[in-house]
Amino acid sequence: MVNFCYVYDCCLKFRLQLLRYLLVEIKNGIFTSDKLFRLTPSVSVWNSCYRSCNSSWAATKAILDQELKSIKNAGTWKEERIITSRQDALISVEGKTEKVLNFCANNYLGLSSHPAVVEAGKKALDKYGAGLSSVRFICGTQDLHKELERKVAKFHGREEAILYASCFDANAGLFEVLLTPEDAVISDELNHASIIDGIRLCKAQKIRYQHRNMKELEEKLEESQGARLRLIATDGVFSMDGNVTPLRNICDLAEKYKAMVFVDECHATGFFGRTGRGTEEYFNLTGRVDIINSTLGKALGGAAGGYTTGKKEVIELLRQRSRPYLFSNTLPPPVVACASKVFDILMDSSTLTDKVKKNTQKFRTEMKAAGFNVIGDDHPICPVMLGDARLASVFAEEMLERGIYVIGFSFPVVPKGKARIRVQISAAHSEQDIDKTVDAFLDVGKKLKVI
Ligand code: PLP
Repeated sequence: MVNFCYVYDCCLKFRLQLLRYLLVEIKNGIFTSDKLFRLTPSVSVWNSCYRSCNSSWAATKAILDQELKSIKNAGTWKEERIITSRQDALISVEGKTEKVLNFCANNYLGLSSHPAVVEAGKKALDKYGAGLSSVRFICGTQDLHKELERKVAKFHGREEAILYASCFDANAGLFEVLLTPEDAVISDELNHASIIDGIRLCKAQKIRYQHRNMKELEEKLEESQGARLRLIATDGVFSMDGNVTPLRNICDLAEKYKAMVFVDECHATGFFGRTGRGTEEYFNLTGRVDIINSTLGKALGGAAGGYTTGKKEVIELLRQRSRPYLFSNTLPPPVVACASKVFDILMDSSTLTDKVKKNTQKFRTEMKAAGFNVIGDDHPICPVMLGDARLASVFAEEMLERGIYVIGFSFPVVPKGKARIRVQISAAHSEQDIDKTVDAFLDVGKKLKVI
């Protein structure tokens, strides 16, 4: 005999299954009112429901356990350190009594906790509320969303811009809107995962070229001349190596072969190039890239959000067809207001951009002088190469002991044998912060016999 209260203890799947059986019983006239609280005749039903749910979970659990174990065995398990303060140059971390210097955030301009940015967010929360409970085209567009889109377009010198909940979404929603099976997308092999996923979703011919290899890109452009439209897709700056895409050559090849250029500027917007306009500006190519995607979640305040900016027709089509835009909630007003304030700060002055450049130069110069192998171009992502995965992880732990929060990266995030500490410099760091970090690297480097 089974009481109904058992039902409430069971998983949702089981309850649904049981309800289905009961409906069948009611329909067939088997289930009568005297059985309302006692399911005596349905014990076998109960058992079969329970067994089917239970065994399918047992099988799933065994598979998941195996998968989790293999990640741990491979040494690629990612632990998350818990921060108990705001994001900043100096942060509190759970388990540490002293504050530590943060050298692994994408907070390139130090704006994540900037007083004016935080204040703008608070004001928007009061005026516009926490969120809109809606997607943009239903009732999720406020004047401040439109204002931010205008600022994004103006900052990049483009006709229009469209906001997304993240740059991952912007990348996921771009390619399938623009490209059909008659078209081709030609993509750098080391592009960010979100570009790869976005490309997977479209039906165009998918072609990859070797990382930053312009000879191979040209071959692929030659081979794909039959396509209706061709789009070259690249990160502006590659986040693992801190190196820059050869954008001038890409734009020249695009012109020669009548292709379009798409650049993901997540690790460039706001701080790279003379006034922070990104990779285009770094190479003096302003206006030559057709489509730019970037994030509001790194240098631009660091909250969340992404965007696409470019020609009016491209943005209009995205508003009509791009699935992450159409079927996902609008950005919360405080997040929009924070990003909007960041653009005001950036369009007003390039002080922060200059500061992050100066800090980067100081760190790179002093680390190289100390004998470390720091790769990448003159970008605030400074990968300190160590080679061995275990060494990178021990090195990062030793750095934390000395009050510096950095992370070791190893396979599969970077190729085998190319483990590293990825240091990220911010405008929020002082000269003393950089000195302290270089000293800690020297100390740990000697202890672990790296230098
Ligand atoms: N593109 C690149 C190159 C990135 O580094 C990232 C974030 O790690 C993204 C896209 C995704 O950005 P978001 O965090 O806004 O989704």
